[in-house]
Amino acid sequence: MIVTVSRTKDAKAVERELIARGLWIERFEDRDRVQFAIAPSSQSIDPETLRGIEGVESVTVPKAAHPLVDKMPRVVNVRGKKIGVGEKPILISGPCSVESEAQIRDLAKKLSAAGVSILRGGAFKPRTSPYAFQGHGDVALRWMRRAADECGMAMVTEVMAAEDAPLVAELADIVQIGSRNMHSYSLLKTAAKQKRPMLLKRGMAATIEEWLAAGEYCLVHGAPAVIFCERGIRGFDPSTRNVLDLGAVALLAEAHELPVIVDPSHAAGRRDLIPALSRAALAAGAAGLMVEAHEDPGSALSDGPQALTVAQLSKIAEVM
Ligand code: PEP
Ligand code: MN
Repeated sequence: MIVTVSRTKDAKAVERELIARGLWIERFEDRDRVQFAIAPSSQSIDPETLRGIEGVESVTVPKAAHPLVDKMPRVVNVRGKKIGVGEKPILISGPCSVESEAQIRDLAKKLSAAGVSILRGGAFKPRTSPYAFQGHGDVALRWMRRAADECGMAMVTEVMAAEDAPLVAELADIVQIGSRNMHSYSLLKTAAKQKRPMLLKRGMAATIEEWLAAGEYCLVHGAPAVIFCERGIRGFDPSTRNVLDLGAVALLAEAHELPVIVDPSHAAGRRDLIPALSRAALAAGAAGLMVEAHEDPGSALSDGPQALTVAQLSKIAEVM
């Protein structure tokens, strides 16, 4: 928004008032007037309130960058499980990769008993190395669906290729877009056309506005809702796998009132930090957590060092 103050008024007083209201502003001036541009990601305020400030001549509201995200329902309902602001935080858990039918069935039963309501697991895996396990593909989707149904759980899994989108959407309740694909706009469009709620992971170097714009792509192309997932962004310190951006979580939850969840597993890359990061995520306003778990992390085909055992996961479930 652009706030205009005529030269005949006290622009300094208006500037003070804008800053006092928590707004991020940039000042421009010419001979006749002073203008303040309010940054899009600054605290939300309605134009009428700004017009009411003593000395303000006019307020211009530019076209919204992501209008559908702005008016998306604040709570997403997936098989009766509600995810969003004001709801009890949801726990999503499962293995990094679906390794076998027996693995996902047994794990789903234990996780469900521990309080997990949405089962996660990768059938198609975005691995950095082409030599690493790439997932079992279609058959793993079916194993996972059966396991989720047996336990009355919903299911979320990642789609990596447009040609897999129809089957992923037929079998999953939520279609996940991985961090590496947040910017793959043609994949976003095809996945969105399947008309399932989507779980959109933040690109590892994406700004918040780019993330919201990717959410807009999903909504424009048919997704009924988007759940945003913060999973850590690239930092310079290798002590953790990524940097968990809880400021982004608070911003989406508080300022935008959007359903945002946190994946502490891919953020930390190590299991010892996950309980603390989970508590911090909930304190920052996360509507839920997505945490990787494995019966025997030492033998996991992917991401073993960050997988929690069922007992460790249960402790997180207890504090939710
Ligand atoms: C995942 O959740 O399985 C995954 C690969 O995560 P990310 O896209 O965040 O790396
Ligand atoms: Mn993983």
